[in-house]
Amino acid sequence: MSVNNRKNPRMNLRHARDHVRLPIFFSMRARYGPIHRTCWTVLIARHTLIALGLIAALGPNAVANTALATPFTIESRNTISDLAAQTHTTSELALQLSVANIDRWDDAEVITALRTAANLLAQCEIRITVTDLLRIRVPDSHRYFDTPRSRELARALALPKPTLYFTAGTRQVPAFDAEAIGRGNSRSRPELTDTVWIARGARDLGQVIAHELVHVLMDSGAHDNSSGNLMAEQTSPQNTQLNTAQCAQMRSTGTRNGLLRPGVN
Ligand SMILES: [Zn+2]
Repeated sequence: MSVNNRKNPRMNLRHARDHVRLPIFFSMRARYGPIHRTCWTVLIARHTLIALGLIAALGPNAVANTALATPFTIESRNTISDLAAQTHTTSELALQLSVANIDRWDDAEVITALRTAANLLAQCEIRITVTDLLRIRVPDSHRYFDTPRSRELARALALPKPTLYFTAGTRQVPAFDAEAIGRGNSRSRPELTDTVWIARGARDLGQVIAHELVHVLMDSGAHDNSSGNLMAEQTSPQNTQLNTAQCAQMRSTGTRNGLLRPGVN
């Protein structure tokens, strides 16, 4: 299996339905050679969200019935406050994350990587204040990043954004370690707006998370191959820095898009 660690932003206008030409950025790191889908999974009902949302309201019998009809089950929820070790500043912006673990990733590995990412974003005075860590059981068909099925999953869960999905891998072609989807590349797949999809086995996981979150917050697939820059096409432990312009764009666009909020306590 070949390994290709280059990040490949690209333009894709096939799905742009508006008059404005929107770049579709694939902000990610190629890891595998092309992976071909080897099976075709059964389509699921589109009422999962309703089922999930009404479980509490409909009583025990409803729980039993909907459990049979619902392919996605939230097994546990763990809220983590203040991932980064930092002091509060008056100009910091708060970021709340939803993290969907859909392939039984080790919680400790995920949390360690999230802490690394939080410390990287802190250089722009962005503070991950709350992280909702959910362990979700999904059918095998939905454990991978695969646009139609991932759309179904995201639509059904309707988690607050940004949402990070820790997956079994990807069935996208080309295949990448991680993929970020912002406003500019989600017109044809709105459920995936402001989400990041991370494949099992991604290296430099903390840097990857931070890198993809920057793409989402900036709503841009831009890279910067300056020495040491976090947004270099190729992530590495040495690429950790964000410059003043990157911080400014992330803070302004993230705030405008409702992903960052001022006034951290
Ligand atoms: Zn990127």
